[in-house]
Amino acid sequence: MESYDLAIVGGSFGGLACAGAAAARGLRTVVLDKKKTPDTYTQSTGIFVKEIADQVDLPSELVNKIHGVRLYSPNFKHIDLVSPGYYFLATDTCRVLKWFAGQAENNGAELRFGKEIKNGHLIDNKIILPGNKISSSYLVGADGATSEVADIFQLGRNSEFLLGTEYEVSGVEGLEKDFLHVFLDSDLAPGYIAWMVPGVHLTQIGLATKFPIRPNIRNFYNKLIDHFEFKNLEIVNRRGGYIPCGGPVNPIARDNICLLGDAAGFVSPMTAGGIHPAIEIGRLLGISISDYLQDGGYPPEQIIRKHIPSYRYKKLIRKFSDIYTPPNYLFNFLLNNYLFRKASQLIFFHHRGLMSVEAWKEILGNKK
Ligand SMILES: Cc1cc2nc3c(=O)[nH]c(=O)nc-3n(C[C@H](O)[C@H](O)[C@H](O)COP(=O)(O)OP(=O)(O)OC[C@H]3O[C@@H](n4cnc5c(N)ncnc54)[C@H](O)[C@@H]3O)c2cc1C
Repeated sequence: MESYDLAIVGGSFGGLACAGAAAARGLRTVVLDKKKTPDTYTQSTGIFVKEIADQVDLPSELVNKIHGVRLYSPNFKHIDLVSPGYYFLATDTCRVLKWFAGQAENNGAELRFGKEIKNGHLIDNKIILPGNKISSSYLVGADGATSEVADIFQLGRNSEFLLGTEYEVSGVEGLEKDFLHVFLDSDLAPGYIAWMVPGVHLTQIGLATKFPIRPNIRNFYNKLIDHFEFKNLEIVNRRGGYIPCGGPVNPIARDNICLLGDAAGFVSPMTAGGIHPAIEIGRLLGISISDYLQDGGYPPEQIIRKHIPSYRYKKLIRKFSDIYTPPNYLFNFLLNNYLFRKASQLIFFHHRGLMSVEAWKEILGNKK
């Protein structure tokens, strides 16, 4: 049995950020992931909002900076939304994950890919992962929306999901590259949206629906080909998965075991963005675990709790959109409406909070 200070299940955004911070502070840290390598696969479109892009110095060849959102109604009328100084990063997501893995390793974390966790137990304040012959003082479950760690150690489970699916496509020509192309369509993406993202090398075309409705990406893909008259497209890759949309689970921690990222439900119920909280809270969790184990600090879950977004208003809007799916003619009608436009602006550009002062200054038209 090998002994570690910290074992992390899941080597994606959250797990690797946590591992890097903990290992840099001297904790003996191991990451276990069932994928063969960090860049074998991702389920994610991989868009970084500016708030997290500012905190992580991603190499420029792995990203494509995008300044605006082009929002389409079902009949393909569109409006362009921008916010001064704001941008998103489209990413070569698998290579970004490989880069994060390199950073964690450079800081001293041990990464073991091709290792799936199926069971575990507690003995004398140690967490034992018998399949991998590992014992650790602290365990982080960063193993995604349907977390095995949550299951094994009886922590809170996600119960509400969106289902997202995406093609990576080559051969897209004539698409305005400085916009995220976002499509409102209640027939194709009830309860959420569809998208076309000018990625680093390829274009990402995808949509999500409220589970249990299955997204029909073929129909959306064909609709785009018809409208934009795309020729010679080739689907190079397919990805997708569950996106938690019910807010943080309860409990997120017990007995020196804490959930993180999608496993903990740290995903905006409205935008479905989870990379920002996974990395930001992951890093903080790594620091707090180090403080706790090495310096007699407070339990890490108490520290991160203050930083977990409540998603209060976003959960309300999600509940409303679960109950009411606007008909497509309403989207066609609303697109040019002033309030609708301002509300869309808020949703896409104010990830820090719908009720922030900045958001309301912008909604009222006073940008300073
Ligand atoms: C289609 C789609 C598009 C998305 N687009 C965006 C976006 O553009 N921007 C954004 O901010 N968010 C997006 N999200 C959400 C975002 O991908 C997640 O919030 C984010 O990836 C969460 O990171 P994480 O570290 O919690 O874990 P995840 O990325 O979910 O990774 C979990 C890791 O755990 C491993 N694992 C799982 N079970 C086990 C086990 N039993 N043993 C060992 N390893 C295990 C998996 O192999 C995986 O590497 C999208 C999600 C989907 C599905």
